[in-house]
Amino acid sequence: MRQKWACWFDFSKAASASLLAALAMRAGAAALACMAVALPAGWAQAQAADGAASRDTRLLQSCFTPADLAAKGGEKAPRKGQRGFDGPEPARTLRPYAPVPGHLRGAIRRVKLPPGQKLVALTLDLCEQPGEIAGYDGAIIDYLRKEGVKATLFIGGKWLRSHETRARQLIADPLFEIANHAAAHRNLRLLTGKRLREEIEGPQRAYEAVHESFAKAQCVRSQTQAWTSVPQRMALFRFPFGACNKASLDAVNNAGLLAIQWDVSTGDPWPGQSAKAIAAEILRGTRPGSIVIGHANGRGFNTAAALPLAIPKLKAQGYRFVTVSELLAAGEPEIVSSCYNLKPGDTDRYDNLATAFRRKLPKRPAADGAKGAGGWSATVKKKP
Ligand SMILES: [Zn+2]
Repeated sequence: MRQKWACWFDFSKAASASLLAALAMRAGAAALACMAVALPAGWAQAQAADGAASRDTRLLQSCFTPADLAAKGGEKAPRKGQRGFDGPEPARTLRPYAPVPGHLRGAIRRVKLPPGQKLVALTLDLCEQPGEIAGYDGAIIDYLRKEGVKATLFIGGKWLRSHETRARQLIADPLFEIANHAAAHRNLRLLTGKRLREEIEGPQRAYEAVHESFAKAQCVRSQTQAWTSVPQRMALFRFPFGACNKASLDAVNNAGLLAIQWDVSTGDPWPGQSAKAIAAEILRGTRPGSIVIGHANGRGFNTAAALPLAIPKLKAQGYRFVTVSELLAAGEPEIVSSCYNLKPGDTDRYDNLATAFRRKLPKRPAADGAKGAGGWSATVKKKP
């Protein structure tokens, strides 16, 4: 059965298939094993390059110089009043996918690991709303590369298009898993039909378009073997504002995407959250199997300074940083039926974000950043 599904889908790595089959079988769902195998072509693609020591940088080195990769001045701050990327991603046929099977549907908050395994997944969101070009916090990416720290980057569809060179660099680096963070950071609880579908599928089209155009570059064509480890589609999704309802959660899972929340919130979209406070939150909240959320789009105001405070301490405690897909493959996901930041219902307030902005927002936003520089109010629309 597994081979049948595996044949239907275009797997670039046998390792991914066996890993996902094991995940499904462990859940006691033999009949669903093929579904899980077929599901996330992106899952565990980085397995072969587990750990910085075995990181394959051939593709990165072939396509970019160190100067190309390094952070540049002026890139971090979001630029408001830029509407050049506000239109939808051009139509294209998405790669095949299967809906998420029953035992993996819902909002994944963390992963229960076998005793003794100290894995943690750092996740960084790169949100971009209409009417702006969000930032690229190169200091974070440079640090993670220098230290060989894996991370999963939840990237907005608009961001992928407005930062195509940076997107190529991140896609080409096996240190990073690239995942879907909606098209334009809209509150999916307020959307239905075509608009809901666009927020979910737009970034899939954007990623696959970048993948296709990048594949034609000479520097990629000379690195055939390294290129095969680059996932052909994204398999994970994060809801903007950490807000979902049953309809949007179903829509995400039906699109073949696992919904990934978090159990450790850095609070970094709040400008008042110091580097020390972010590091303290990470160190206080992290347990084996944790998923930590921060931002790398310029709205994690002190994140770049915080990570060097927290990461070496976690490493010293025996933690190993892995991608979300690797974390999922190592244990049992803890899944809930609603999306929230710290407790159920706490992100529902973003349904009234525009009103809330008029009344002045509370000082501390949800982890996914309702209050960034300039705020997110422009993204909120009432139900169509
Ligand atoms: Zn976001």
